[in-house]
Amino acid sequence: MRKKIIAGNWKMNKTLSEGLSLASEVVNMANDEAPSDVTLVLCTPAIHLSQVSAIAKDAKTVFVGAQNISEHESGAYTGDLSADMAKSAGASFVILGHSERREYHFETNTQLAERVKLALAKGLTPIFCCGESLETREANEHVEFVNNQLKESLFDLSAEQMSQVVIAYEPIWAIGTGVTASSDQAQEMHKSIRTSLASNFGEDVAEGISILYGGSMKPANAEELLAQPDVDGGLIGGASLKSRDFIDIAKSY
Ligand code: PEP
Repeated sequence: MRKKIIAGNWKMNKTLSEGLSLASEVVNMANDEAPSDVTLVLCTPAIHLSQVSAIAKDAKTVFVGAQNISEHESGAYTGDLSADMAKSAGASFVILGHSERREYHFETNTQLAERVKLALAKGLTPIFCCGESLETREANEHVEFVNNQLKESLFDLSAEQMSQVVIAYEPIWAIGTGVTASSDQAQEMHKSIRTSLASNFGEDVAEGISILYGGSMKPANAEELLAQPDVDGGLIGGASLKSRDFIDIAKSY
């Protein structure tokens, strides 16, 4: 059975006190009404991590994640967050390779490969993001493009390491735009990702990996997306900033 995961990416939103209120609401609702087989992850700004982790301890199904880590263990990298820091602040997940990081901070597949390995070595579960631009999709090169992202960042891992990675397919054209991939488009790409994982790591590993969909997922469209056989959860941006919406997405499973 693959893990069902609904992860919220708060991005650069919420002051500390606003974030703590949101986390408390999510924890209370998770305890009262969220399905017990769905893992909820709050990927907060770094400054929120330790206090949100303390709040999340009150819920069995809520965990905390960072939004990025450095590929360096420590040192003179002003403004960066290390894997050890994230871990010591209570994170158990980390988003890596979000398209906003790739676009605005020029993160490369090679650099992300190093971060994935470091995250795993430090006991953080990477949520590795992949996904194509509208231009790439319109050129019908999306499958090849995403495969290449996986190949350059993940295919060097051992099967054991790979089985600890979560993948998030996030078509860039669907992120924050209100345009969602159709359930067919999502399923097609998730299936293709799983097939590619199977050919590199074997059927058993591929079958066990959770592949999340991200891109304007909200309560109104979650049920249909989450019903697809290869969609194992969601990475939620905008809708994760409202506790009601976030929990309602988890309840659509
Ligand atoms: C994201 O940024 O990971 C995301 C999926 O954002 P949104 O849900 O707002 O499209």
